[in-house]
Amino acid sequence: MRVKFWGVRGGLAAPGAACADTGGNTSCIEVRTATGALLVLDAGIGLYWLGRSLLAGAYGRGQGEATIFLARTHWDHIQGLPFFVPAFLPGNKIHIHGCGHAGKDLRTILEGQMAESYSPIVSLKNMPSIGNVKDVALGQTLETGGVSVRAHVVNRGKADAPSVAWRIDEDGRSLVYVTDVEYDKGVPDAETIAFAREADLLVHETFFTDDERRKGEGGIILSLPPQARRNHATFGEATELGLRANARKLLCTHHHPDRDDQTIARAIEAERDRVKGRKGTLSVDTAREGFELPV
Ligand SMILES: [Zn+2]
Repeated sequence: MRVKFWGVRGGLAAPGAACADTGGNTSCIEVRTATGALLVLDAGIGLYWLGRSLLAGAYGRGQGEATIFLARTHWDHIQGLPFFVPAFLPGNKIHIHGCGHAGKDLRTILEGQMAESYSPIVSLKNMPSIGNVKDVALGQTLETGGVSVRAHVVNRGKADAPSVAWRIDEDGRSLVYVTDVEYDKGVPDAETIAFAREADLLVHETFFTDDERRKGEGGIILSLPPQARRNHATFGEATELGLRANARKLLCTHHHPDRDDQTIARAIEAERDRVKGRKGTLSVDTAREGFELPV
């Protein structure tokens, strides 16, 4: 499979020169399987730009198909959806998988996003190419486009909407995407380690630095409200999961909007030192918008 990043921010978009190297759009990753099928991880603002890129091909003629897997229904994971132009062109088939919460299924939650108070779309029905909108069945493996896709719910039982980690396996190669997760005492849990086991590419959120976490809410640079700081992980925790799961490559994503290119580069260097200190072989880098790699 091939992976391309269209959005690598969490919480809010981060336009401006200080973030230009890493990129400023919220979460969205394009995955192309060997059979050419299009899978999309998250529908943040990056989805708009992915949609634009698709219009030159089959999607512009109403002959495209894609499946979007949502990690969460918070804004930074769905904000691109009302702007995903291929979903408005009849003939395309766009499926969405994710997780409802608080007694509402995924379709009801996304329908709410389109309501007239928030969006001129008014209803999902006005996006004629959106087909299946499905809540994930835990423990079930979905076969699509020649790959198998598995869901693992993290942050179960904690405040806020649950988050879904996704694992895509294709012919012995694997991509694992984990975001919006808070580990108890900062240590990845056994279930998530097993889920990420031997991943060729682990894409993991790094909203906080370890220092920020240690200093607590009062000490961090964050301008976001306390509620927006819950259920997130650090650079160190992402590396720890990669090491414990024996993953081969870690790409850090879902960066805080205050985190400029220089501080991300420093954090990545610190993680490379951590891996060396543990005599590990995990390769660590940041995901960047426009960055494309084979898995
Ligand atoms: Zn998020």
